[in-house]
Amino acid sequence: MIILKKSLLLLFFVGISLQCFCWGFFAHKKINNHAVFLLPPQMLVFYKSNIDFLTEHAIDPDKRRYAVAGEGSRHYIDIDAYGAYPYPDLPRDHSKAIEKFGEDTINANGIVPWHVQTMLGRLTKAFKENNYSSILKNSADLGHYIADAHVPLHASSNHNGQHTDQKGIHGFWESRIPELLADKEFDFFIGKAQYIPNPGAFIWDRVLESALAADSVLKFEKELSIQFRGDKKFGFEKRNLDNLKQVSSDYSKAFNKKLNGMIERRMRQSIFAVASFWYTAWINAGQPDLALLSGKSFSEEDLKGFEELNEKWKNNKVIGREHE
Ligand SMILES: [Zn+2]
Repeated sequence: MIILKKSLLLLFFVGISLQCFCWGFFAHKKINNHAVFLLPPQMLVFYKSNIDFLTEHAIDPDKRRYAVAGEGSRHYIDIDAYGAYPYPDLPRDHSKAIEKFGEDTINANGIVPWHVQTMLGRLTKAFKENNYSSILKNSADLGHYIADAHVPLHASSNHNGQHTDQKGIHGFWESRIPELLADKEFDFFIGKAQYIPNPGAFIWDRVLESALAADSVLKFEKELSIQFRGDKKFGFEKRNLDNLKQVSSDYSKAFNKKLNGMIERRMRQSIFAVASFWYTAWINAGQPDLALLSGKSFSEEDLKGFEELNEKWKNNKVIGREHE
């Protein structure tokens, strides 16, 4: 029985880690895709005609972790390394944080709230330059990092339950449940993008919410795993053509219920934040006329870059820490 349980756990973990990182590819694509529809008409016309790109490339930053050293730390922050909530010892300003803790420590513990602000700057610049390729690439990337900042386990050093014997919980929260429930049960009617006067404060608020929620995510899963003994936690389900062993639908639904809509809420907040950051960059760039970009396309170099990124992702190992 013990051996069976161990092998099931292993399958669970392997299955999850093969699937994805961060929100999971499914959720990241969905978030960027839905964000387009929150934009004002002057932006919607451009973003909607490029919605396939923004959706597909929502996962480029995860693929880049196979190609670029230092990419990994942009996706998370182990904020509990800096004390207890609300982490008053950690300066929210990047240079002050580096001054206090040193660049190596800051990078090792993750930089997502700062990287979101860097990306906002890049997107604003791209709008100012009316640069088709740069607007699209930076929009897709920014959407990814903002979404990651909304995931509770991206703001915890126990990011995959590795310290509490809950390995696999990361993918369970952000991949398995959205894939199972987002299309059927989640409501993505969200309203309109809003201008964000202080993007730094905005993203830090989201990160602190994530940090606070991480404890509930871990605690609730632990409680549930005691209720669902043995093979009730796992089941065979059809995925593409394969019968895949994974966390059962019953267990997933029970966890979602226990979280009281947290995953849906964080997805909705991600969508709103992504659209609002795109909108804020455009406003801060002076509301350039995006109709001037119609008929433009990616350069040969851009296309080659996308292809190379895909190859590295398919063939190589993650450079740096895995954040499964
Ligand atoms: Zn990520």
